[in-house]
Amino acid sequence: MDHLPYPGSANGRKKTVVPYVCQEDYDGGDFMTYPSRRRGSLPNLHTVGPFPGQLLDSHQMQLASLSKQEIRSFYQTWLFFGLIHEILGSLYVPEDLIYTCEDQHGHTKAVSTSMLAPALDEWVARVQAGRVDSSVTYAHVAQCLCLTHAALSIQAFRSHFDPNIKLSLASLGQTFTYAANKAFNITDIVKNNKCPSTWRRLIDDDYWNGRLLAHGWCVTEVKLILDTTLSLQTLHFLACLDKTNLEHSHQGCDTRQCTAYQNDLEGYQTRHIGKECDCEELSIDAEALYDILKTKALPLIRVRPSQTLGELSIDLVASQPTSRYVALSHVWADGLGNPDANALPRCQLSNLRKLVQELNIAAHSRDTRDHRAKAKDAEEEHEEEEEELLLWCDTLCCPVQPKKAKHLALEYMYRTYRNATHVLVLDASLMQYNVESLDIDEVSMRILTSPWMRRLWTLQEGALPAVTNRLWFQLSHTALNLREFRMNAHEKYLSSISRSGLAGDILKRMGSFANIFVKDNSERPGADLGKVIEALHHRSVSVPSDEPLLIGNLLGIDSAPILNGGDAADALRINRLWRMIPSTRHRIPSNLLFRVGPRLAEPGLKWAPATLLIDNDANIDIQSSESENEQGILTASDGLLVRLHGFRLSLASRAKGLPSRRKGTSQLMKPNTLFMKDDSGSWYLMRRNLLVEQDRFLTDKTLAEIVEEGKKIWVIYPDSQFPRPPGSKAQVSVGLIVEVEPEEEEEVEAEAEAEAEDEDEETAVKKTHAKLHINIVPLKTSTQAWFAVAAAFSAQLASVSLALRNLAAIENGLDEHSSSSSSFLSQTTALEELASEIHQMATNEEAKEAIEAAGNQFDILLTEDLITMMIWGHYVCMRETVPRTQRWCVD
Ligand SMILES: [Zn+2]
Ligand SMILES: [Zn+2]
Repeated sequence: MDHLPYPGSANGRKKTVVPYVCQEDYDGGDFMTYPSRRRGSLPNLHTVGPFPGQLLDSHQMQLASLSKQEIRSFYQTWLFFGLIHEILGSLYVPEDLIYTCEDQHGHTKAVSTSMLAPALDEWVARVQAGRVDSSVTYAHVAQCLCLTHAALSIQAFRSHFDPNIKLSLASLGQTFTYAANKAFNITDIVKNNKCPSTWRRLIDDDYWNGRLLAHGWCVTEVKLILDTTLSLQTLHFLACLDKTNLEHSHQGCDTRQCTAYQNDLEGYQTRHIGKECDCEELSIDAEALYDILKTKALPLIRVRPSQTLGELSIDLVASQPTSRYVALSHVWADGLGNPDANALPRCQLSNLRKLVQELNIAAHSRDTRDHRAKAKDAEEEHEEEEEELLLWCDTLCCPVQPKKAKHLALEYMYRTYRNATHVLVLDASLMQYNVESLDIDEVSMRILTSPWMRRLWTLQEGALPAVTNRLWFQLSHTALNLREFRMNAHEKYLSSISRSGLAGDILKRMGSFANIFVKDNSERPGADLGKVIEALHHRSVSVPSDEPLLIGNLLGIDSAPILNGGDAADALRINRLWRMIPSTRHRIPSNLLFRVGPRLAEPGLKWAPATLLIDNDANIDIQSSESENEQGILTASDGLLVRLHGFRLSLASRAKGLPSRRKGTSQLMKPNTLFMKDDSGSWYLMRRNLLVEQDRFLTDKTLAEIVEEGKKIWVIYPDSQFPRPPGSKAQVSVGLIVEVEPEEEEEVEAEAEAEAEDEDEETAVKKTHAKLHINIVPLKTSTQAWFAVAAAFSAQLASVSLALRNLAAIENGLDEHSSSSSSFLSQTTALEELASEIHQMATNEEAKEAIEAAGNQFDILLTEDLITMMIWGHYVCMRETVPRTQRWCVD
């Protein structure tokens, strides 16, 4: 699999071998029509289906009926050798692509793509120079790739196709996609790309899961990788990267949280540089730190060699506006912390001094280089004197006590990292690598998947300096600036076919932490909540009450009131944070209401997430907006006032004559899945968004119970596209079921008055309690037809049914004559009759024809179930709808 990138450290050990399984050579003919040429039973695959490259079910079945050997051989001949032949033309040399390898089975033939990269570069050059055949067009290449993608998407192969062969075919397709976009200069990928973009989805997550876990990756990291990676290049690269770490094992981690670097402050041990070293500790006086903090300056450290040989001394200095200092950002679990005293072993300090000096030199030479590049001709280069660079390290500069002093230091944390000349990242897992011996892509990936990247505090420590290129990572001999990694990835993304997917994923992940702030000269620039939420993804923190502080800092909120406001209880910091967010530029995006997960219990804040660290696949992206319509207004005690679309939801009515619904027992078919009909007759599936055990924060009731018990139940939703027309390539829409308080509809008005001054005509605010997160999917067009038939039949039955007439007579006559037991018996009989009438309807030929005509496979039982559901009204209806101008106050 040589067309996929390998990390340098793998040394070729873990090369993925792709067996050569062809039973015949490629015939050298046209790629698109090969299936019909070679296998008489197969149609011209590209001529069928709604658009080129789409395979119909029947053709999928024909392909799936081939034996395992036949299909492997057919696919490799066609989609590997055929595709390369079709696109590369004269650059295609079949002999270059096969080699003999030795393994436990003796000598076997395998497929090699080591010649592909140079051939592709040559091909791109020829296309760009117009030195190719006129048949080589972007449209044609894209068409071949679409067909390849469609042929590989066939469900039936999922289980019995050699995953390595499949990966070789899918990744070849992706490589050609990168090459075609480069050759034909498709720069706007979103707008102009005609090639398939979802190659990565062709390979099951299980395949990568197995490979990554076998190399020591943490399950949370694996999940993050699978959630965010777009390129097979990246997945292959990471699957070959060894992440075994004997010291911090990921054995105890589960998919929600990585616990390998969680600190137990009780048993924390500050470490020395060498295992045997037991040099003495140098400490800073906590009182002196407090004195400096009280003056609003930052305490900084000067480390210098003392008169005695090999000795060190440290001075405490109060920062000046012109002070230059390096702020350290380190992973506490590596041993550079100290929970008991502002002290570090002498060996550590000596090492820090060395690192700071080296960084000073590296940064200076870089600045000089930049300066030279900028002013090439200007002779007036003045040799700057090497200025002193001081040190800030939380272990020494954040007083361990008293609490007041500690709070001051926390309050200044944002400023500490914002004003630092440089921020240096120390992560033991990175400091063993040397950029000279490891390629820079691997170092980038190791940084992006390092423990440092997964800690909560390091987000602020890294994001603030990243904006202005002041963030450095310490490797074994040098520190490299984030800018070098970015520039490398940028260049590869644009120029290297075999690494552009990898580079794209590197840039994307870098962006998720390094781009949350925009360059802004204001005193306290705040990031946008949506970006912060995205960056918090899969980060963890040892002290939970640190989270609101950090989020506040990132949003540009002054942390003092979060630390000290109200009754100052640490557990309520998050409540204080949410109350302060309305003062930020973006306020509270109304979409936040649709975020699932733990919520606060305080009245008026029940809509607010209790943490942003626990994430869930069911969550939608939160996008902050400048538009006031998409921002919520926090009222003093009633909750969040938002403008959203909504519709009233109620149970369907049942056929006349049926016994009334009994209270207390659910009559609906399934507790957490319901069918819903809109007023145009289209059908949807409405489901509880999360499993009951993941979603106990709003209710412990089922969806059915909420709908049956609720008086005024509405669904509010963020997506203006809803309800989506049936048959659209719909994504799931999310919504929130709320119960409207009937008598208080007008009351919130007073609080919202200021907002509504010049909008007299506005509808009253609906005051609501959140009940349940749901999602809604429109049924497929073919299924819609089935439901329509069932609806027509149930209406017909309701008007002619004898059983229903009998049931009505029994309901009406109950009090007058006959004992209750005999009426119970006759009711039972009538209900049986009704069931048999429904059965009759369902077996009707007309029903079968209509249902099959819409492309369904007819099923009597299901049809019977649907008619029963409609007769009994066991579904919900979308009643009244309101536009986005409607205001809701959600508790
Ligand atoms: Zn872990
Ligand atoms: Zn020591």
